[in-house]
Amino acid sequence: MNDQNWDVAVVGTGIVGLALAYTAAKAGSSVIMFERHPRAIGATIRNFGMVWPVGQPLETFERAMQSRAVWLELAEKAGFWAAPTGMMCAAYHDDELDVLEEFVETRKNNGYEIELLRPEKALEKSAVINPAGLKGALWSATEVNVDPREATLRIHRYLQEAMGVTILYDTAITYINHPWIAAGDEQWYAERMYVCSGADFETLYPEIYAASGITKCKLQMMRTTPQLADWQLGPTLCAGLTLTHYGSFAHCESIHTLKKRFAAQLPAYQEWGIHVLVSQTSKGEITIGDSHEYGLDLSPFDSAYINKMILDYLSNFAAFPNMQIGETWHGIYAKLPGRTEYVVEPEEGVTIVNGLSGAGMTLSFGLAQEILKT
Ligand SMILES: Cc1cc2nc3c(=O)[nH]c(=O)nc-3n(C[C@H](O)[C@H](O)[C@H](O)COP(=O)(O)OP(=O)(O)OC[C@H]3O[C@@H](n4cnc5c(N)ncnc54)[C@H](O)[C@@H]3O)c2cc1C
Repeated sequence: MNDQNWDVAVVGTGIVGLALAYTAAKAGSSVIMFERHPRAIGATIRNFGMVWPVGQPLETFERAMQSRAVWLELAEKAGFWAAPTGMMCAAYHDDELDVLEEFVETRKNNGYEIELLRPEKALEKSAVINPAGLKGALWSATEVNVDPREATLRIHRYLQEAMGVTILYDTAITYINHPWIAAGDEQWYAERMYVCSGADFETLYPEIYAASGITKCKLQMMRTTPQLADWQLGPTLCAGLTLTHYGSFAHCESIHTLKKRFAAQLPAYQEWGIHVLVSQTSKGEITIGDSHEYGLDLSPFDSAYINKMILDYLSNFAAFPNMQIGETWHGIYAKLPGRTEYVVEPEEGVTIVNGLSGAGMTLSFGLAQEILKT
């Protein structure tokens, strides 16, 4: 048993746990975190590092903007790369342009800093967008690109060195009985506990997870070797397929026509949930993805066929000076269908915070402020 009494204990040091720890420590709480691995190796270090308010529907847009502000604040304090690059979505078909027009028309007065660009303006903003057949592009000014591996490491260090947060690595929490939290024989006392275990639904409160309908999603990713020194991607990029994927475009009437065309022309892309996004890292590598496979029994193996489909679609809208793929991997996140997060109290004093699906980097800091009421 440990003598110290903690205000807050957090299980999991991915972005959800880090956001809660940072927000609680900033408000003056003593915080202890537990990570079962020697370092965070979950979805948080495997993603694009896109902080993407433009992908959020109205209901979560403000939460995303709150998060964006914290990312920029933390980047400065903790010393990591965070580029307010904005994003661009390129349209090569009339039905894609229709969705972009409708989106700008219906959302321009809701805080989204968006604009429809003619091809020549789009090409001025991005040197890598394919000019052939370009009909226009959506420009959004609010997106920030971080390097998830660098940012996660720096936030861990900053919490420990500057904010007095204790992080215990190689410590898998196996049991909670509030106010006690235990790893094997060792236990700690904490007033409040947050369980942020990402795609691990099997260790803590498995029966609560099983009853919730929450599931997992596997995404395949790739990264080029570094581009030439000082080369910058500029805006993070995507094209038509992405419009059918993000909730922010779901209210557009024109999305139905686009979905029908993709179902007819690109059925394999629909089957594997592929849409293509591009971001950059602090070292100038280009991160490219992704696919979406859902279920509790996901294959541990990656498919070369899926990666080829991703690169084929990418070649329609962008190319980089260096296209050599240096790494491939997959990440898994938790998703509760139809919901933007899964927040429940399995017992008094304990809150599960999970299920941020493909938007954990975009929403975690804002959600933490709402949960902790700071
Ligand atoms: C490939 C990919 C790309 C993505 N791209 C983006 C993007 O660009 N923008 C965006 O907004 N979102 C993106 N997302 C979503 C985002 O990455 C996730 O929503 C987010 O990382 C989830 O964070 P988390 O803290 O819940 O989980 P994780 O990062 O998986 O962290 C959970 C942690 O808990 C630890 N843990 C679990 N159980 C225990 C236990 N019992 N005891 C101790 N430790 C435990 C694990 O070891 C792990 O470190 C992407 C996701 C993936 C997979």
